[in-house]
Amino acid sequence: MIVNFDKCLHCGGCVGSCPQNAIFLNDYILEFNDKCNRCGRCVRLCPVQALKLEAKV
Ligand code: SF4
Ligand code: SF4
Repeated sequence: MIVNFDKCLHCGGCVGSCPQNAIFLNDYILEFNDKCNRCGRCVRLCPVQALKLEAKV
């Protein structure tokens, strides 16, 4: 996951949206764990388009 920290409002909306509980807000820094299954829900939900799925490595 790529987070655009210039855009992110730390609203926490994506955190609550994740069905895998893979997103955490840690002192205003968004963190993702390896439970993310790339469903894209958080990307669509973010009001400021701060999230982007990176190509799988
Ligand atoms: S892509 Fe889906 S599983 Fe991954 S962090 Fe976003 S909402 Fe959670
Ligand atoms: S929904 Fe968007 S603006 Fe809100 S915390 Fe997540 S990435 Fe940041």
